[in-house]
Amino acid sequence: MRIVDRLTRVTDAPCFSFELFPPKTEEGVAELFAALAELSPLAPAYVSVTYGAGGGGRDRTLGLVRRIQAETGLPVMAHLACLGHSEDEIAAILDELAEAGVENLLALRGDPPRGAPPPEGFHYASELVRFARRRGYDFCIGAAAYPEGHIECADRNRDMAHLVAKVEQGVDFLVTQLFFDNAFYFDFVRRARERRLRVPVLPGLMPITNAAQIDRFTRLCGATVPMRLVLELERRAGDLAAVEALGVAHAAEQAFDLIARGAPGIHFFTLNRSRAVRRILEALRERYPIAPVDLSAAARRGQLTQGGQNG
Ligand code: FAD
Repeated sequence: MRIVDRLTRVTDAPCFSFELFPPKTEEGVAELFAALAELSPLAPAYVSVTYGAGGGGRDRTLGLVRRIQAETGLPVMAHLACLGHSEDEIAAILDELAEAGVENLLALRGDPPRGAPPPEGFHYASELVRFARRRGYDFCIGAAAYPEGHIECADRNRDMAHLVAKVEQGVDFLVTQLFFDNAFYFDFVRRARERRLRVPVLPGLMPITNAAQIDRFTRLCGATVPMRLVLELERRAGDLAAVEALGVAHAAEQAFDLIARGAPGIHFFTLNRSRAVRRILEALRERYPIAPVDLSAAARRGQLTQGGQNG
């Protein structure tokens, strides 16, 4: 299934997708597959597997992509971060993905390791897209977009010009960085459309389940947490269940509004956990034709109790 076909199909059912990362330990892998068992019945349009920039996680990503395809049959999108890779290395990875039957690729730059000299090889995601297209790979290609602008580019118009150039190399759809205020997404889409950028823009949401973790992520990627939300999180400091309930409610509200106002679906950054996403989809199910959520099944297995491994 080519993701762009699903995103552009006229249907009442929004497209939901789940992002996973390759764990470094066997225990982490077991937790991931437990989460996936909870998420699969929600019939995501696809799941995506992140890639360790610099190539360190290459085998882990490929291995996990293969295993998810074999064990779940779900369409998988493989992320590939090109920074520092040579053309030969990228060609070898693209060959492996194509041979594994992967149809969808998220073409990324990745982040430079701190203090490292300027890398050889690929420098921007647009170069990866161009390379894949020129070599004739038939992937449906997605790329990253930043509603608040990419953190390294202070000038949003310049950042948008870079995005347009990237899409022109052959990008089929965009997935955004996380954001907590939908105004950023709608303003971004409006500016993109003004630049004649026509590809679908799938919004990325990360439900807050841990205030310290979200603070770390947003500092790294430059996303704004609205002051109202910051204050509500502070009021719940130390109460993990209350923080998660707030995070779920906020993300569900965002998702309702995004879909109602024309977003093609929601990409969830799951952090390999299922509980918050399941609760959001439970709330959305009342409005949209999506697969039923059986929260009681998870509760029976003890995964919805406080501190459960899969939350
Ligand atoms: P690019 O599109 O190359 O842009 C990077 C910066 O360079 C921007 O500031 C842009 O304005 C600027 N730029 C672009 N072209 C030019 C040019 N020609 N001249 C000058 N400046 C230019 N990272 C991972 O390592 N692995 C993952 O699996 C992963 N998954 C992600 C999934 C999503 C949905 C998102 C939103 C991000 C993900 N990232 C991942 C993070 C991503 O790698 C970083 O945000 C990275 O800093 C930028 O990657 P990019 O592909 O957007 O880069």
